[in-house]
Amino acid sequence: MIKPDRIVTTTCPYCGVGCNLELHVKDDFIFKVTSPFDSPVNHGNLCVKGRFGYDYIYHPKRVTTPLIRKTKQEAGRRTQAFDLSEWREVSWDEALDYAADRLVEIYKRGGSDAMAVYCCAKATNEDNYLLQKMYRSIFRTNNVDHCTRLCHAGSVVALQQAVGSSAMSNTASQVIQNDVFIVTGSNTTENHPIISLQMKEAVQKHGAKMIVVDPRRIELVDFADLWLPLKPGTNVPVFTAMAYVIVTENLVNHDFINDRTEGYTEFLASLEDFTPEYAEKISGVPAEDIRKAARMYATAKNAAIYWGMGISQLSHGTASALALIHLAFLTGHIGRDGTGLNPLRGQNNVQGASDMGAMPFHYPGYMRVDNEDNAAKWEKTWNIEAGGLSRKLGLTTTEILSHAHEGGVRALYIMGENPMMSEPNLNETRKHMEQLEFLVAQDIFINESGAFADVFLPATPFAEKDGTFSNTDRRVQRVRAAQKPRGQSRPDWQIICDLALRLESRLGRVTAKWDYSNPEEILREMAGVNLDYAGITYERIDKVGLIYPVPNMNHPGTPTLFKDSFPRGRGKFHVLDYVPVMEEADDEFPFILTTGRVLEHWHGGTMTRNSALNEAYPEARVQMHPADAEMHGIRDGDPVKVQSRRGEVVLRATVTEKTTVGVVFIPFHFAEAAANLLTNDALDPQAKIPEFKACAVQVFPAREDELAHPDVMLSRGRY
Ligand code: SF4
Repeated sequence: MIKPDRIVTTTCPYCGVGCNLELHVKDDFIFKVTSPFDSPVNHGNLCVKGRFGYDYIYHPKRVTTPLIRKTKQEAGRRTQAFDLSEWREVSWDEALDYAADRLVEIYKRGGSDAMAVYCCAKATNEDNYLLQKMYRSIFRTNNVDHCTRLCHAGSVVALQQAVGSSAMSNTASQVIQNDVFIVTGSNTTENHPIISLQMKEAVQKHGAKMIVVDPRRIELVDFADLWLPLKPGTNVPVFTAMAYVIVTENLVNHDFINDRTEGYTEFLASLEDFTPEYAEKISGVPAEDIRKAARMYATAKNAAIYWGMGISQLSHGTASALALIHLAFLTGHIGRDGTGLNPLRGQNNVQGASDMGAMPFHYPGYMRVDNEDNAAKWEKTWNIEAGGLSRKLGLTTTEILSHAHEGGVRALYIMGENPMMSEPNLNETRKHMEQLEFLVAQDIFINESGAFADVFLPATPFAEKDGTFSNTDRRVQRVRAAQKPRGQSRPDWQIICDLALRLESRLGRVTAKWDYSNPEEILREMAGVNLDYAGITYERIDKVGLIYPVPNMNHPGTPTLFKDSFPRGRGKFHVLDYVPVMEEADDEFPFILTTGRVLEHWHGGTMTRNSALNEAYPEARVQMHPADAEMHGIRDGDPVKVQSRRGEVVLRATVTEKTTVGVVFIPFHFAEAAANLLTNDALDPQAKIPEFKACAVQVFPAREDELAHPDVMLSRGRY
């Protein structure tokens, strides 16, 4: 048995559960991962990603030297090739000087609107705070966003409108205090495995009743009392019909409605048409099951709702989330332990990146950029002249790329994200990427997006840096370096500081602070204005973290929000209409495609496909129902072509009753059969989130030789 030199406790870099990890290190090499049994988040449990998915940090394709792309004449430009011969290895000084020169030249020519940045939900709070600070304080732009736009933007906007706060209201571990809970639009077993364990424990050990509302027969259905298999995109009629039942059967909590909400009268009037029978016609869910679900939820002592991207990734994602919020308002299942509205956040630090202001409408702490008082506070903190920060709302991720043209965005900086896998309608995304004049990629691998870059800045993964992540519970936890940065790679925060100093000197300004000696100094600067973090220090969160809001140094944290009031005062009901998905199945494209994750992989695959996990789940698969497969002459394992109005992919079929008739499912991790070549880039008008969860497709048998080999795809030539 190997005896470790040290065991370093840190936080998992994959999903928003934020499990605590122990990295066992020998000779500056991590050889094993375990978890402390006293962790309040995961109690010693880990899923396969946390346990085995760390070896990507040693993958030979990891880039640990700064690179500049050779000139067009020498090698061609933006060929999407993973080919190091197209790059020149350079010193950090040369890479940063080059990036600074080009960014400043484009800024001087095109102004603030020409500049944009993608922050990163995988990076630390400190990294994200600094990157948005660099773009806001130096380039005076709010064109700052990250992948929250692509996962929970609908939930964030709905919660902001209805209660004035967008995080989970309760912690996930409170599920064992629920008498009834609804899980909807979340394949929790694969997306948040440790939370799904807690859900099963709630059912099996604590007698809770679970209602699953999902188009797929996900694993949790086996533990549920009731499953409502709705058609993708029909959340609003199903949940509003539940509201109809709660109201018409007088199951409402009148005291809560009178004391804590507004807009009930108008909402009540709008319910008239949303009968369970109407919802059945649209969603396919039997009216009687909608009634049962409404009664179970409304009459429980403590009930909660947990939801995922099946609610938010729709062109009416905001309305879908509002329909859930109404159920909590009607019954008063909010503001107490064991109740609540709980959007399960996807990435390890998507909550934190949002808290840090990595968004186009908000400074850190969800302070609107178009509010004078907010802007003045950050101008003071960043030593900027009064009126210097932009009050103009910035562009969202999808808009940043669609504005990549003459007179629009000319230079883009991407830290750790991969829009060439994560954006919808990738054939369009590719055209936009080609229009950029200058692209900086700061990452650990050259992924599908980095292949378009002009300069590559090698960053360190979670195991080689210090900082904090904020998990889906709002728990701020430590990230600790377990080994030295490989090669010349550097922590993101250090790269950003060095670049910011160069940018400021080229622009003849010395304004904001960039000479931090450690990441905690960065967090403390942010916490001086974002008071949710005011009482957080590295010492206080050393062992088990703290759940914000933590308004002062003596505050113990706030696991349950809204006990007495909502941040906006009264909770606001909204009148909702049913709006169908943008593309419904028809004769030409008779299936609805829905996309998501599988247990073994993560997002664009930059980490998991370069780890041992890829051996466990090596290829893309489309799941289809046996009845559909039989009708189309498709057997399990056959190659099939899936085609939408925007693109096509070839992959093998998995014939399974996990999907319902007429619905096919493709995970979005596989570049060789990228699900987002097919998806629809229609946006929710308020949240600007794309409709990843429903588009119309056709499925045909294909030939073996039409399948793309994953290694071929590493050359990224197939798009
Ligand atoms: Fe990591 Fe999430 Fe798995 Fe926990 S459940 S080990 S946080 S991926």
